[in-house]
Amino acid sequence: MKIAVLPGDGIGPEIVAQAVKVLKALASDGLKVELEEAHIGGAGYDAAGDPLPDATMKLAQDSDAVLLGAVGGWQYDTLPRPMRPEQGLLRIRKGMNVFANLRPALLYPELASASTLKPEVVSGLDIMIVRELTGDIYFGQPRGIQINDKGEREGVNTMRYCESEIRRIAKVGYEIAMKRGKKMCSVDKANVLETTELWREIVTEMNKDYPEVELSHMYVDNAAMQLVRAPKQFDVMITGNIFGDILSDEASMLTGSIGMLPSASLDANNKGLYEPSHGSAPDIAGKDIANPLATILSVAMMLRYTFNNEEGATRIENAVKKVLAQGYRTADIYTEGTRKTSCSEMGDAVVKNL
Ligand code: NAD
Repeated sequence: MKIAVLPGDGIGPEIVAQAVKVLKALASDGLKVELEEAHIGGAGYDAAGDPLPDATMKLAQDSDAVLLGAVGGWQYDTLPRPMRPEQGLLRIRKGMNVFANLRPALLYPELASASTLKPEVVSGLDIMIVRELTGDIYFGQPRGIQINDKGEREGVNTMRYCESEIRRIAKVGYEIAMKRGKKMCSVDKANVLETTELWREIVTEMNKDYPEVELSHMYVDNAAMQLVRAPKQFDVMITGNIFGDILSDEASMLTGSIGMLPSASLDANNKGLYEPSHGSAPDIAGKDIANPLATILSVAMMLRYTFNNEEGATRIENAVKKVLAQGYRTADIYTEGTRKTSCSEMGDAVVKNL
Protein backbone atom coordinates (compact mmCIF):
# COMPACT_ATOMS: atom_id res chain seq x y z
CA MET A 1 0.00 0.00 0.00
CA LYS A 2 1.52 3.23 -1.12
CA ILE A 3 0.40 6.35 0.73
CA ALA A 4 1.16 9.87 -0.41
CA VAL A 5 1.67 12.05 2.66
CA LEU A 6 0.93 15.75 2.10
CA PRO A 7 1.34 17.70 5.36
CA GLY A 8 0.54 21.13 3.86
CA ASP A 9 0.52 24.29 5.97
CA GLY A 10 -0.08 25.63 9.46
CA ILE A 11 -0.75 22.78 11.89
CA GLY A 12 -0.70 20.33 8.94
CA PRO A 13 2.87 19.09 9.50
CA GLU A 14 2.32 18.69 13.28
CA ILE A 15 -0.88 16.68 13.03
CA VAL A 16 0.27 14.59 10.06
CA ALA A 17 3.44 13.68 11.97
CA GLN A 18 1.22 12.08 14.65
CA ALA A 19 -0.79 10.15 12.08
CA VAL A 20 2.47 8.94 10.50
CA LYS A 21 3.61 7.71 13.95
CA VAL A 22 0.44 5.62 14.10
CA LEU A 23 0.99 4.21 10.60
CA LYS A 24 4.60 3.37 11.42
CA ALA A 25 3.57 1.65 14.65
CA LEU A 26 1.11 -0.49 12.68
CA ALA A 27 3.82 -1.12 10.07
CA SER A 28 6.16 -2.43 12.76
CA ASP A 29 3.34 -4.84 13.54
CA GLY A 30 3.04 -6.16 10.01
CA LEU A 31 0.99 -3.58 8.09
CA LYS A 32 2.64 -3.18 4.70
CA VAL A 33 2.82 0.52 3.92
CA GLU A 34 5.15 2.70 1.97
CA LEU A 35 4.97 6.43 2.70
CA GLU A 36 6.16 9.22 0.46
CA GLU A 37 5.92 12.91 1.30
CA ALA A 38 5.22 15.85 -1.01
CA HIS A 39 4.22 19.50 -0.84
CA ILE A 40 0.76 20.97 -1.24
CA GLY A 41 -0.85 24.35 -0.58
CA GLY A 42 1.37 27.18 0.59
CA ALA A 43 4.18 24.67 1.06
CA GLY A 44 3.81 23.71 -2.62
CA TYR A 45 3.88 27.35 -3.63
CA ASP A 46 7.02 27.97 -1.55
CA ALA A 47 8.80 24.89 -2.89
CA ALA A 48 7.71 24.90 -6.54
CA GLY A 49 5.69 28.07 -7.20
CA ASP A 50 2.42 26.08 -7.43
CA PRO A 51 -0.07 25.04 -4.70
CA LEU A 52 -0.29 21.66 -6.43
CA PRO A 53 3.12 20.94 -7.97
CA ASP A 54 3.09 18.41 -10.83
CA ALA A 55 5.23 16.04 -8.77
CA THR A 56 2.59 16.05 -6.00
CA MET A 57 -0.28 15.29 -8.39
CA LYS A 58 1.76 12.51 -9.97
CA LEU A 59 2.55 11.03 -6.56
CA ALA A 60 -1.16 11.19 -5.62
CA GLN A 61 -2.08 9.42 -8.85
CA ASP A 62 0.57 6.74 -8.34
CA SER A 63 -0.46 6.07 -4.73
CA ASP A 64 -3.29 3.96 -3.33
CA ALA A 65 -4.35 6.69 -0.91
CA VAL A 66 -3.46 10.24 0.06
CA LEU A 67 -3.15 11.54 3.61
CA LEU A 68 -3.46 15.30 3.73
CA GLY A 69 -3.02 17.70 6.66
CA ALA A 70 -4.47 21.10 5.80
CA VAL A 71 -3.65 24.05 3.61
CA GLY A 72 -3.76 27.81 3.97
CA GLY A 73 -2.08 30.66 5.78
CA TRP A 74 -2.31 34.40 6.10
CA GLN A 75 0.93 34.94 4.18
CA TYR A 76 -0.69 33.48 1.05
CA ASP A 77 -3.95 35.46 1.17
CA THR A 78 -2.71 38.20 -1.16
CA LEU A 79 -1.44 35.86 -3.90
CA PRO A 80 -3.37 35.73 -7.20
CA ARG A 81 -6.26 33.28 -6.74
CA PRO A 82 -4.79 30.38 -8.83
CA MET A 83 -1.67 30.43 -6.64
CA ARG A 84 -3.51 30.32 -3.32
CA PRO A 85 -3.21 27.18 -1.18
CA GLU A 86 -6.94 26.34 -1.33
CA GLN A 87 -6.67 25.96 -5.11
CA GLY A 88 -4.24 23.11 -4.53
CA LEU A 89 -6.89 21.34 -2.51
CA LEU A 90 -9.66 21.84 -5.07
CA ARG A 91 -7.36 20.70 -7.87
CA ILE A 92 -6.21 17.52 -6.12
CA ARG A 93 -9.84 16.57 -5.34
CA LYS A 94 -10.81 17.12 -8.96
CA GLY A 95 -7.64 15.46 -10.29
CA MET A 96 -8.31 12.36 -8.19
CA ASN A 97 -12.01 12.39 -9.17
CA VAL A 98 -13.07 11.84 -5.58
CA PHE A 99 -16.84 12.23 -5.87
CA ALA A 100 -17.89 10.64 -2.58
CA ASN A 101 -17.26 12.59 0.58
CA LEU A 102 -17.66 10.67 3.82
CA ARG A 103 -17.95 12.60 7.03
CA PRO A 104 -18.67 10.70 10.20
CA ALA A 105 -20.22 12.50 13.13
CA LEU A 106 -19.29 10.37 16.11
CA LEU A 107 -19.59 11.47 19.69
CA TYR A 108 -17.18 9.96 22.18
CA PRO A 109 -18.96 9.57 25.54
CA GLU A 110 -16.11 11.39 27.32
CA LEU A 111 -16.76 14.46 25.17
CA ALA A 112 -20.56 14.56 25.55
CA SER A 113 -20.36 17.82 27.49
CA ALA A 114 -18.49 19.48 24.59
CA SER A 115 -21.63 19.42 22.42
CA THR A 116 -24.11 22.30 22.50
CA LEU A 117 -26.92 19.74 22.61
CA LYS A 118 -28.07 17.96 25.74
CA PRO A 119 -25.92 14.89 26.52
CA GLU A 120 -28.94 12.57 26.37
CA VAL A 121 -29.69 13.76 22.80
CA VAL A 122 -26.15 13.21 21.48
CA SER A 123 -24.54 10.52 23.61
CA GLY A 124 -23.97 7.43 21.51
CA LEU A 125 -24.27 9.44 18.30
CA ASP A 126 -22.67 7.71 15.30
CA ILE A 127 -23.75 9.03 11.90
CA MET A 128 -22.02 8.76 8.54
CA ILE A 129 -22.90 11.45 6.05
CA VAL A 130 -22.18 10.51 2.44
CA ARG A 131 -22.14 13.63 0.31
CA GLU A 132 -21.78 13.74 -3.47
CA LEU A 133 -18.84 16.06 -4.08
CA THR A 134 -18.41 16.78 -7.78
CA GLY A 135 -21.89 17.52 -9.17
CA ASP A 136 -25.17 19.29 -8.34
CA ILE A 137 -25.89 23.02 -8.33
CA TYR A 138 -22.24 23.79 -7.47
CA PHE A 139 -21.12 22.63 -10.91
CA GLY A 140 -24.29 22.64 -13.10
CA GLN A 141 -24.40 24.80 -16.25
CA PRO A 142 -25.69 27.33 -17.12
CA ARG A 143 -24.55 29.53 -14.28
CA GLY A 144 -23.63 33.15 -13.80
CA ILE A 145 -25.02 36.63 -13.33
CA GLN A 146 -26.69 37.94 -16.45
CA ILE A 147 -29.04 40.71 -17.59
CA ASN A 148 -32.58 39.42 -18.15
CA ASP A 149 -35.06 40.66 -20.76
CA LYS A 150 -36.34 43.31 -18.34
CA GLY A 151 -32.81 44.75 -18.20
CA GLU A 152 -32.41 43.56 -14.61
CA ARG A 153 -29.47 41.55 -13.23
CA GLU A 154 -30.32 37.93 -12.54
CA GLY A 155 -28.30 35.17 -10.87
CA VAL A 156 -28.53 31.67 -12.32
CA ASN A 157 -27.38 28.28 -11.05
CA THR A 158 -28.50 24.91 -12.28
CA MET A 159 -29.23 21.86 -10.16
CA ARG A 160 -28.28 18.93 -12.32
CA TYR A 161 -27.56 15.24 -11.74
CA CYS A 162 -27.40 12.56 -14.38
CA GLU A 163 -28.33 8.97 -13.68
CA SER A 164 -24.77 7.63 -13.63
CA GLU A 165 -23.70 10.25 -11.07
CA ILE A 166 -26.56 9.27 -8.79
CA ARG A 167 -25.86 5.57 -9.23
CA ARG A 168 -22.18 5.79 -8.34
CA ILE A 169 -22.78 7.78 -5.13
CA ALA A 170 -25.74 5.57 -4.16
CA LYS A 171 -23.51 2.52 -4.57
CA VAL A 172 -20.98 4.06 -2.15
CA GLY A 173 -23.80 4.80 0.31
CA TYR A 174 -25.17 1.25 0.16
CA GLU A 175 -21.75 -0.32 0.54
CA ILE A 176 -20.97 1.81 3.58
CA ALA A 177 -24.37 0.99 5.06
CA MET A 178 -23.51 -2.71 4.62
CA LYS A 179 -20.33 -2.15 6.65
CA ARG A 180 -22.26 -0.31 9.38
CA GLY A 181 -25.79 -0.62 10.75
CA LYS A 182 -27.47 -1.42 7.37
CA LYS A 183 -29.76 1.62 7.58
CA MET A 184 -29.61 4.38 5.00
CA CYS A 185 -31.60 7.59 4.83
CA SER A 186 -31.56 9.36 1.47
CA VAL A 187 -32.12 13.09 1.78
CA ASP A 188 -33.74 15.04 -1.06
CA LYS A 189 -36.40 17.60 -1.91
CA ALA A 190 -38.31 15.35 -4.27
CA ASN A 191 -41.58 17.14 -3.56
CA VAL A 192 -40.29 20.29 -5.28
CA LEU A 193 -37.15 19.52 -7.32
CA GLU A 194 -37.21 17.15 -10.30
CA THR A 195 -33.44 16.57 -10.01
CA THR A 196 -33.97 15.04 -6.61
CA GLU A 197 -37.10 13.20 -7.78
CA LEU A 198 -34.75 11.33 -10.12
CA TRP A 199 -32.31 10.93 -7.22
CA ARG A 200 -35.03 9.28 -5.11
CA GLU A 201 -36.14 7.01 -7.97
CA ILE A 202 -32.63 5.68 -8.62
CA VAL A 203 -31.68 5.25 -4.96
CA THR A 204 -34.94 3.32 -4.44
CA GLU A 205 -34.39 1.15 -7.50
CA MET A 206 -30.87 0.22 -6.34
CA ASN A 207 -32.21 -1.02 -3.03
CA LYS A 208 -32.97 -4.33 -4.78
CA ASP A 209 -29.20 -4.91 -5.09
CA TYR A 210 -28.79 -4.32 -1.36
CA PRO A 211 -31.92 -5.90 0.14
CA GLU A 212 -30.37 -6.04 3.60
CA VAL A 213 -30.16 -2.26 3.77
CA GLU A 214 -33.22 -0.61 5.26
CA LEU A 215 -33.76 2.45 3.06
CA SER A 216 -35.73 5.52 4.05
CA HIS A 217 -36.20 8.93 2.45
CA MET A 218 -36.43 12.34 4.05
CA TYR A 219 -36.90 15.85 2.74
CA VAL A 220 -33.92 18.04 3.47
CA ASP A 221 -35.83 20.54 5.61
CA ASN A 222 -37.06 17.75 7.85
CA ALA A 223 -33.57 16.18 7.93
CA ALA A 224 -32.09 19.47 9.16
CA MET A 225 -34.65 19.51 11.94
CA GLN A 226 -34.30 15.81 12.84
CA LEU A 227 -30.51 16.17 13.11
CA VAL A 228 -30.88 18.44 16.11
CA ARG A 229 -34.12 16.92 17.43
CA ALA A 230 -33.22 13.22 17.45
CA PRO A 231 -29.90 12.66 15.64
CA LYS A 232 -29.47 9.10 16.89
CA GLN A 233 -32.20 7.87 14.50
CA PHE A 234 -29.63 8.09 11.67
CA ASP A 235 -26.97 5.59 10.60
CA VAL A 236 -25.92 6.46 7.03
CA MET A 237 -27.31 9.62 5.41
CA ILE A 238 -26.78 10.01 1.69
CA THR A 239 -27.38 13.23 -0.17
CA GLY A 240 -26.32 15.55 -2.99
CA ASN A 241 -23.61 18.16 -2.91
CA ILE A 242 -25.44 21.24 -1.63
CA PHE A 243 -27.65 19.48 0.92
CA GLY A 244 -24.62 17.47 2.10
CA ASP A 245 -22.52 20.58 2.48
CA ILE A 246 -25.03 22.09 4.87
CA LEU A 247 -26.08 18.93 6.74
CA SER A 248 -22.52 17.70 7.32
CA ASP A 249 -21.54 20.99 8.95
CA GLU A 250 -24.67 20.86 11.07
CA ALA A 251 -23.90 17.28 12.08
CA SER A 252 -20.27 18.05 12.90
CA MET A 253 -21.33 20.49 15.58
CA LEU A 254 -23.33 17.80 17.33
CA THR A 255 -20.01 16.31 18.37
CA GLY A 256 -18.42 19.39 19.90
CA SER A 257 -14.90 19.84 18.54
CA ILE A 258 -13.74 20.19 14.96
CA GLY A 259 -10.39 18.76 16.04
CA MET A 260 -12.03 15.32 16.33
CA LEU A 261 -13.59 15.01 12.89
CA PRO A 262 -11.97 12.97 10.11
CA SER A 263 -13.09 12.76 6.49
CA ALA A 264 -12.61 10.63 3.42
CA SER A 265 -13.21 11.44 -0.22
CA LEU A 266 -13.37 8.41 -2.51
CA ASP A 267 -13.28 7.71 -6.23
CA ALA A 268 -15.08 4.89 -8.04
CA ASN A 269 -12.39 2.36 -7.01
CA ASN A 270 -12.31 3.42 -3.36
CA LYS A 271 -9.01 5.17 -3.84
CA GLY A 272 -9.18 8.04 -1.42
CA LEU A 273 -8.07 11.36 -0.10
CA TYR A 274 -8.11 11.41 3.69
CA GLU A 275 -7.96 14.60 5.71
CA PRO A 276 -9.27 16.15 8.90
CA SER A 277 -12.40 18.28 8.46
CA HIS A 278 -10.70 21.36 9.86
CA GLY A 279 -8.29 23.85 8.30
CA SER A 280 -4.67 24.79 8.91
CA ALA A 281 -5.39 26.72 12.13
CA PRO A 282 -2.63 29.30 11.63
CA ASP A 283 -3.49 30.82 15.03
CA ILE A 284 -2.05 27.78 16.83
CA ALA A 285 0.48 26.52 14.26
CA GLY A 286 3.98 25.62 15.47
CA LYS A 287 2.94 25.49 19.14
CA ASP A 288 2.45 21.72 19.42
CA ILE A 289 -1.03 22.23 20.86
CA ALA A 290 -3.28 21.18 17.94
CA ASN A 291 -5.54 18.16 18.24
CA PRO A 292 -4.18 15.41 15.95
CA LEU A 293 -7.09 13.00 16.52
CA ALA A 294 -9.08 14.03 13.41
CA THR A 295 -6.03 13.20 11.29
CA ILE A 296 -5.33 9.96 13.14
CA LEU A 297 -8.99 8.97 12.71
CA SER A 298 -8.68 9.79 9.00
CA VAL A 299 -6.02 7.05 8.85
CA ALA A 300 -8.55 4.66 10.39
CA MET A 301 -10.96 5.60 7.59
CA MET A 302 -8.19 4.98 5.05
CA LEU A 303 -7.63 1.47 6.37
CA ARG A 304 -11.36 0.75 6.36
CA TYR A 305 -12.42 2.23 3.02
CA THR A 306 -9.39 2.03 0.74
CA PHE A 307 -7.50 -0.93 2.19
CA ASN A 308 -10.46 -2.94 3.47
CA ASN A 309 -8.58 -3.46 6.72
CA GLU A 310 -11.36 -3.32 9.29
CA GLU A 311 -9.14 -4.73 12.01
CA GLY A 312 -6.53 -1.98 11.62
CA ALA A 313 -9.24 0.70 11.51
CA THR A 314 -10.84 -0.59 14.69
CA ARG A 315 -7.48 -0.77 16.42
CA ILE A 316 -6.89 2.92 15.79
CA GLU A 317 -10.42 3.90 16.80
CA ASN A 318 -10.20 1.86 19.99
CA ALA A 319 -6.84 3.44 20.83
CA VAL A 320 -8.42 6.90 20.46
CA LYS A 321 -11.29 5.86 22.73
CA LYS A 322 -8.77 4.62 25.29
CA VAL A 323 -6.71 7.83 25.35
CA LEU A 324 -9.90 9.82 25.88
CA ALA A 325 -10.94 7.47 28.68
CA GLN A 326 -7.49 7.92 30.22
CA GLY A 327 -8.14 11.65 30.33
CA TYR A 328 -5.72 12.89 27.64
CA ARG A 329 -7.02 16.15 26.17
CA THR A 330 -5.51 18.67 23.79
CA ALA A 331 -6.41 22.30 24.53
CA ASP A 332 -9.53 22.35 22.31
CA ILE A 333 -11.22 19.54 24.25
CA TYR A 334 -9.67 20.19 27.66
CA THR A 335 -11.96 20.45 30.67
CA GLU A 336 -11.00 20.67 34.32
CA GLY A 337 -9.91 17.41 35.86
CA THR A 338 -8.50 16.01 32.61
CA ARG A 339 -4.85 15.80 31.46
CA LYS A 340 -3.74 18.67 29.26
CA THR A 341 -1.80 17.07 26.43
CA SER A 342 0.31 18.46 23.60
CA CYS A 343 -0.15 17.41 19.98
CA SER A 344 2.89 15.14 20.00
CA GLU A 345 2.03 13.65 23.42
CA MET A 346 -1.42 12.82 22.05
CA GLY A 347 0.19 11.02 19.10
CA ASP A 348 2.41 9.06 21.50
CA ALA A 349 -0.56 8.19 23.72
CA VAL A 350 -2.51 6.79 20.75
CA VAL A 351 0.51 4.72 19.67
CA LYS A 352 0.87 3.36 23.21
CA ASN A 353 -2.79 2.29 23.21
CA LEU A 354 -2.85 0.67 19.78
P1 NAD B 1 -9.61 26.32 10.82
O1 NAD B 1 -10.38 25.06 10.78
O2 NAD B 1 -8.21 26.27 10.40
O3 NAD B 1 -9.65 26.92 12.30
C1 NAD B 1 -10.86 27.29 12.96
C2 NAD B 1 -10.62 27.31 14.48
O4 NAD B 1 -10.52 25.97 14.93
C3 NAD B 1 -9.31 28.00 14.89
O5 NAD B 1 -9.50 28.67 16.11
C4 NAD B 1 -8.35 26.85 15.08
O6 NAD B 1 -7.33 27.12 16.02
C5 NAD B 1 -9.28 25.74 15.57
N1 NAD B 1 -8.79 24.42 15.14
C6 NAD B 1 -8.85 23.90 13.88
N2 NAD B 1 -8.29 22.69 13.86
C7 NAD B 1 -7.88 22.42 15.11
C8 NAD B 1 -7.21 21.32 15.71
N3 NAD B 1 -6.85 20.23 15.04
N4 NAD B 1 -6.92 21.40 17.04
C9 NAD B 1 -7.27 22.48 17.75
N5 NAD B 1 -7.90 23.55 17.25
C10 NAD B 1 -8.19 23.53 15.93
O7 NAD B 1 -10.43 27.37 9.93
P2 NAD B 1 -10.09 28.90 9.56
O8 NAD B 1 -9.44 29.58 10.72
O9 NAD B 1 -11.34 29.43 8.99
O10 NAD B 1 -9.05 28.79 8.37
C11 NAD B 1 -7.63 28.84 8.53
C12 NAD B 1 -6.97 28.49 7.22
O11 NAD B 1 -7.29 27.15 6.86
C13 NAD B 1 -7.43 29.35 6.04
O12 NAD B 1 -6.31 29.63 5.24
C14 NAD B 1 -8.42 28.45 5.31
O13 NAD B 1 -8.50 28.76 3.93
C15 NAD B 1 -7.82 27.12 5.53
N6 NAD B 1 -8.77 25.99 5.46
C16 NAD B 1 -8.26 24.84 4.93
C17 NAD B 1 -9.05 23.71 4.90
C18 NAD B 1 -8.42 22.44 4.39
O14 NAD B 1 -7.21 22.38 4.23
N7 NAD B 1 -9.21 21.39 4.17
C19 NAD B 1 -10.35 23.73 5.40
C20 NAD B 1 -10.83 24.92 5.96
C21 NAD B 1 -10.01 26.05 6.00
